[in-house]
Amino acid sequence: MKPVLKSHKLANVCYDIRGPVLQEAKRMEDEGHKIIKLNIGNLGAFGFDSPEEIQLDMIRNLPNAAGYSDSKGIFAARKAVMHYTQQKQIKGVTLEDIYIGNGVSELIVMSMNALLNAGDEVLVPAPDYPLWTAAVSLSGGTPRHYLCDESNGWLPDIDDIRAKITPNTRAIVVINPNNPTGAVYPDDLLREIVAVAREFGLIIYADEVYDKVLYDGVQHTALASLSEDVLTISFNGLSKNYRSCGYRAGWMVVSGDKRSARDYIEGLDMLASMRLCANVPGQYGIQTALGGYQSINDLVMPGGRLYRQREVAHDLITSIPGVSCVKPKATLYMFPRLDPKIYPIADDQLFIKELLQQERVLLVQGTGFNWPQPDHFRLVFLPYEDDLREAIARIARFLENYRKR
Ligand code: PLP
Repeated sequence: MKPVLKSHKLANVCYDIRGPVLQEAKRMEDEGHKIIKLNIGNLGAFGFDSPEEIQLDMIRNLPNAAGYSDSKGIFAARKAVMHYTQQKQIKGVTLEDIYIGNGVSELIVMSMNALLNAGDEVLVPAPDYPLWTAAVSLSGGTPRHYLCDESNGWLPDIDDIRAKITPNTRAIVVINPNNPTGAVYPDDLLREIVAVAREFGLIIYADEVYDKVLYDGVQHTALASLSEDVLTISFNGLSKNYRSCGYRAGWMVVSGDKRSARDYIEGLDMLASMRLCANVPGQYGIQTALGGYQSINDLVMPGGRLYRQREVAHDLITSIPGVSCVKPKATLYMFPRLDPKIYPIADDQLFIKELLQQERVLLVQGTGFNWPQPDHFRLVFLPYEDDLREAIARIARFLENYRKR
């Protein structure tokens, strides 16, 4: 038989969070090594349980959840999401504007597939959550990365956004709160982004999946709440705010100028029906989650487990010579910088692989988030404090040896 090759569509598609270094980690685990994993924001794997009331309601509804649901999702879930959009001050959202998906991931790919033709460009942040870049490429479009400025708390650089717009630009992706930097964007900046989108007729894709994982009293504003005219697709779900990654329950909401987007919405509807429906048991968790006790607040307040782990991780990582890091105001991540004068890294994937092999700590390299230079990595601060301390001590030891090379 001739070799079976993958599709050309995958030529520029990359998702390094679960890439080759993870394969190496799996191989090492098979050999019996114990690895401390600071690579994936999978809360359940670190003892962050999903709220019991969500679990109970899903179990209770399991007998009703064996059939397909409406393609856009069950009524109760969409109604709850509609109320949530009202809480977030997003205007004019009806049940028909809400799509429930198998996590936000499925909806990201769907939203890009429904939009893009060859040659279309989408503005995506650098660094980004790399599914966005991958989804644009897979859908036949071209990602154009705009810079988030580390020296300005990782806020998007509006001048760079403007500079990257061409007649082919269709949309801008905004990830706020941001993975991997942990930045939360102020309203003034969000208004500027809306103004740019309005000026150039761009659709806004607002990924707000961490909008409750906020520290230090920071408030989050939904981008869609800042305009009633710019077509905005907002994404959110149970994975992070409700520590329920595995239930695969996310949603997307269309708001703004829906009349001019009738054809695009028809495309979204078609793709939603082609996959029949999202995982139905997971959908039964949505109403309970949004209307229930918001236990995430106990984790992010001073003294809460996530808050403490952020403090420890940031203090320890920034005490290593040549390592600096903007302190995250949200999410489960930080994106430290390795001073290139002290750590002249040519290939950061190799660097991360060596760290894994020598110290049995797994991180993801910065270029995996479409950061252009090999001088950053992402650290997930989900492991218990003792494991975090141990992991960062090992990173420090690895870097000390690296400096002596
Ligand atoms: N968007 C961002 C910014 C993420 O970090 C993630 C997961 O890590 C997702 C989307 C995907 O979330 P879901 O589990 O809902 O598919």
